[in-house]
Amino acid sequence: MRDISQIKRIIVKVGSSSLCDANGQINKEKTLNIISQIATLHRRGYMVVLVSSGAVASGMGIMGLDHKPSTLPKKQALAAIGQAHLMEIFEELFAIYNMKCAQILLTHDDFDDRKRLLNMFNTINALSEYGVIPIINENDALATDEIKVGDNDTLSALMVPVVEAQLLILVSDIDGLYTANPQIDENAKFLSYVDKVDKKIMSYAGDAGSAIGTGGMTTKLKAAKMVNAFGTHMCIVNGNKENAIVNALVDEGTWFNGSKGKSMKARPHWIAYRSKAKGSITVDDGCKNAIVNHHRSLLPGGIVDVDGHFTHGQVVDIIDLQGRKIARGISNYANEEVRLIKGLKTSQIESVLHHNDYDEVIHANNIVIMEEEK
Ligand code: GLU
Repeated sequence: MRDISQIKRIIVKVGSSSLCDANGQINKEKTLNIISQIATLHRRGYMVVLVSSGAVASGMGIMGLDHKPSTLPKKQALAAIGQAHLMEIFEELFAIYNMKCAQILLTHDDFDDRKRLLNMFNTINALSEYGVIPIINENDALATDEIKVGDNDTLSALMVPVVEAQLLILVSDIDGLYTANPQIDENAKFLSYVDKVDKKIMSYAGDAGSAIGTGGMTTKLKAAKMVNAFGTHMCIVNGNKENAIVNALVDEGTWFNGSKGKSMKARPHWIAYRSKAKGSITVDDGCKNAIVNHHRSLLPGGIVDVDGHFTHGQVVDIIDLQGRKIARGISNYANEEVRLIKGLKTSQIESVLHHNDYDEVIHANNIVIMEEEK
């Protein structure tokens, strides 16, 4: 059963395939189909935030290119060209419904900084008070690998706590989740309701990018995990179907139940899902056991290696000897300091660093165990 009783704020994420023709040109009829449904939700009293892809695709269309250029500056230039065009079309189509829209472009850095997060929250609320639809995309014209989110399924999931949305609708060109790739397996079954994204559900996505019929499904399922842990529902619908977005509230697509996840507090949720790890700390088996099974702090003695550049207060991945990510946490020390004290006893920290601000490299309260390890 889809429980929609608590839903007031909805994020709708639209992929390029739901806005563009095969040649990358923005198709106004397709786009209008999306906008008209957002207008319906808006009229029904829901606050709607739109996360829209299509900047690069539309830039390619305008420049008459049939494949993406290989250099970063050219891709970024196309995003800049396309984003402006995209917004022009959105403005024109929203005006049909007497609605206005606004553009917000983000990178992952904006989610790592508490002040910017608060700013984003305030801006979105002010837009909502004006009755204006915020349209969000990655700032593709400026984002480099180190600071970018990379895909809009993840970007829209990151927006859930900022918008305080109770539902995220991913509009794609697939019907939802199947138990296997329906294009190659005739026994593939469609799932209209997923209670919890566990290992079995994850396995239905196949290897990322390999299964045609479930393209991008791994990212979508990770997004579901992230938002469900925050207590938010998610639904994947096929944008090519009539009224699919509005009908997500009834029976369309695959619904991922979020009502079980409310127990995860904001800080562990931020550590586990929304922050970007700036480095990693590899630990031995004894340390792994203490962290995973006894919820202990990470002490220098169990550390065998350290990677990346991080400072005090930044998030790092905790890795086991097999290279598996077992947990994430907020480090009390910078990477250079961790390198100097790794393998040592806590009592030796001071003699090496000439200060001993913390006994733990990561305190147990700032560690979140990865779901697979529980
Ligand atoms: N931000 C990209 C664009 O607007 C799309 C990313 C995605 O589709 O996931 O072109």
